[in-house]
Parts: sequence; C-alpha cells; structure tokens
Amino acid sequence: MSKAAVVVGVQWGDEGKGKVVDALAEHFDVVARYQGGANAGHTVVAEGRKYILQLLPTGIVRPDRQALIGNGVVIDPEALAREVQCLEDAGVQVGQRLLISDRAHLILPCHRTYEVAAEAARAEGKLGTTSKGIGPTYEDKAGRRGLRTSDLRDAAVFREKCREFLEEKNRLTAALFGSKNDDGAWIDRYLAVSQLIVPRLINVSAFLNDALDAGQRVLFEGAQGTLLDLDHGTYPFVTSSSAAAGGACTGTGVGPTRLDAVIGVSKAYTTRVGSGPFPTELFGEEADKIRERGGEYGAVTGRPRRCGWFDVPLARYSARLNHLRTLVITKLDILDHLAEIPVGIGYELDGRCLDGFPADATDVERLTVRYTTLPGWQEPTFGLQEHDQLPRRAQDYLKFISAEIGVPIAMVSTGPERQQTIWIGSSSHRVIG
Ligand code: GDP
Repeated sequence: MSKAAVVVGVQWGDEGKGKVVDALAEHFDVVARYQGGANAGHTVVAEGRKYILQLLPTGIVRPDRQALIGNGVVIDPEALAREVQCLEDAGVQVGQRLLISDRAHLILPCHRTYEVAAEAARAEGKLGTTSKGIGPTYEDKAGRRGLRTSDLRDAAVFREKCREFLEEKNRLTAALFGSKNDDGAWIDRYLAVSQLIVPRLINVSAFLNDALDAGQRVLFEGAQGTLLDLDHGTYPFVTSSSAAAGGACTGTGVGPTRLDAVIGVSKAYTTRVGSGPFPTELFGEEADKIRERGGEYGAVTGRPRRCGWFDVPLARYSARLNHLRTLVITKLDILDHLAEIPVGIGYELDGRCLDGFPADATDVERLTVRYTTLPGWQEPTFGLQEHDQLPRRAQDYLKFISAEIGVPIAMVSTGPERQQTIWIGSSSHRVIG
C-alpha cells in the first residue's frame, strides 16, 4: 500500500477533492496541503455535519490525523484564525494537530487591494480571481520581497520587514492604480493572531521526511485542479501556484522519488468557475439542470459554476501530466436524469485533429470538440456503495471513460457523505495503490 500519495484535481477544481481526501484520510496518518490559499473550498460531509475548508488540510476533520500546511501554501493569518475558530465551534479539536510551515508566505491586506485594483484595471480578459490576495502574494514570493510565517516569530523584526515592504508596495500600487497608501494598521492585528501560528511553526520538509522514515503514511492534498496549474493550465486563466502533482514536492519539501502514487479526482462531467476557455461547455437548460442538480455554486464565492460534458482529451492530458495511477470519479449521481450523455472524445483545431492540449488559451477557445453519445441510465445512483448495484449503463459509462483515458477507476462517489462511496476492486487498497 502506498505510503505517500498525492490527490490532485484532474479538471478545473471543485471535483470533490474534499470528500475524496476525507474518505482516503482514514488510511493515512498525515494530510499535507501543498499549494493555494483560502481560495479553495473543500466541502466535507461527515456524520451529517458539513464542513467547508478553505485553507486547512481536509485531514483536520478526522480525529487523530496530523494536518500540515506546507511551504507552498500562502496564508492569510486572519482567515486562518477564523477557520480554526469555526471548526472548533463545530466541535473539531484542532490543537497541535495543525502544524504550519515556517517557510509559507503571508497574504497581507495590501495584496487584496492590489488584486482588486489590478482586476478592475483589466478592461478585457478579467481573470475572475477570488480577490483574496493570493496571486499578488505569489508574485511577491517570486519577487523575493514577501513576508513569511517565520517572520512572525519576532515582533520587532516583523514590524521592520513590513515597513520596508510597504514602502515599495505603496509606491508601486499608487503608480499603477492610484490606490491610497497602506499605513500598516493591520500589523498589530497580525501580531495578535500570530499567537495561533507561531507555536505551530515547523520545518514541514523535516517533519514529513521523518514521518515517512518512521513508516507513517502521508497524503498530499492539492487544491484547485490541474488545468488551473500555473505552468500547465489554461494560462493566463490559472491560479498562481503549482496545483498539479509536481507541486506536492516543492510545496512541502519532499523529494519526488518518495511519492508512490498520484490519485486523480474528476467529476463525471466538467465544471469551471471564473473566466477562461472551456471546450465542452454547455449552455441553456441542459447546463442549468446539471448546475442545479450538482449544486454547482462556488463554496467560497457562491458564483455559479459553468457546466459541461466530460472531456476525455483534457482528462488524458491531466492523467499524463500527473502520471495518475488511479482515478476517482465523483458526482456520478448528478447525471442520473439523462437519457443520453455526450462525451468529448477529440479536439480539432483549424480542421486538424489534435493529439495534445494546446498551450495557448485562445487556441483552446477555438477548439472544435468531437463527441460520442453514450446512453444514460435514468435510474438513481445516489448513495450507492457497491459497484454491482450501479445500473449496467452507468458501469459502461465509467468503463468507457477509464478506457479512453487509460487509467483505472478505483473509486466512485455517489453522494457527499463519506460512506456514499464505491471502492472498486477488493478494497480501499486499490485506490491507494
Ligand atoms: P473540491 O474543492 O474539489 O473539494 O470540491 P467542492 O467541495 O467545491 O465541490 C464538491 C461538492 O460536491 C461539495 O458540495 C460536495 O459535498 C459535493 N459532492 C462531492 N462528491 C459528491 C457526489 O458524488 N455526489 C454529490 N451529489 N455531491 C458530491
């Protein structure tokens, strides 16, 4: 059984990774988030209670699991404090089960201001960001001027670094957008909240390597999805971090050869939130029906998600990029009503069949999709827990997808609850490898 597995979104995020990580976490000792910030919106339903996790690793919901925030994550200390409080109010004991990298970058209020101003200044091609300051924080990280969690250890050092940082940032934002100066009034608030962070700071790389040496199992949790990966997604309509499996190594400090499985999570159809190309997008009543049935509204922003058919070439691209060992298909039940289900099986660009996925978002926008249509099953699958209980046509749909992508399906989700899950094969061992 795999000791170090990565869970990654195959599409544009919101695939149901929260539910899947929660289900898998039963078999792991540690769950580590490796990228993104509080722009994720993982929903976990456990024993009738619903938890929405934005920044915290999903493993926190299970008692006794260690939950780690890796160096690849960007942290808004106040958002973190609110999320911890919310969970504790809901009866989840966070305590020292939550540990945080001392190398993670901090989101500052001016990052949010900058993001809002930059998005407003774009006449066309708005990126549809969550306005949480995540992109600008990664920009400052790459610009080697960002502030990190370890800076919170010494209040005087933190104040001084913030002052230097603001001097430059204020000049930049004023010149670019005419925004007013950030006077650093938040610094005291950040220092107050640092009491929650500082005692939890560790070297995540050392912790995880020690845990793996000691025979513990680690699950690496990706937020967003592969097509939102900064390098490999539909640039520039992407997130600012490495959402694909490779990010698990840089985002936690664990070497690539220590990872032994990558599990891809995909919906039985496709959704996308925000702007950007979406080849199999559906419009009108059919899209509305899927959106309503699937509750396709952003967990963080409440924005309606764009809906479309399953896209095989996209999933194949993602499977290769992440070297997926197994697939998890979620929300199969949302398609129960359909008499026929189109599936995108090929792309054409300027009359030529394409083998891969175009680099250029404008080319993705111009793609023509070739479809095949599979018969629907028109029977309820909601909550089923055994593969044999699935209607024959639902089994065939899954078999078709798996064969087209070339990756075995090891788990199917039929509802938001933990136990509304079909483990294919002899047991959960297969999904974990
Ligand atoms: P994530 O960001 O990838 O974790 O996905 P989200 O949590 O944003 O979206 C998935 C939504 O679908 C959540 O509300 C889940 O509770 C729900 N969900 C997950 N799996 C299933 C499923 O198989 N069927 C149904 N009906 N809902 C599901």
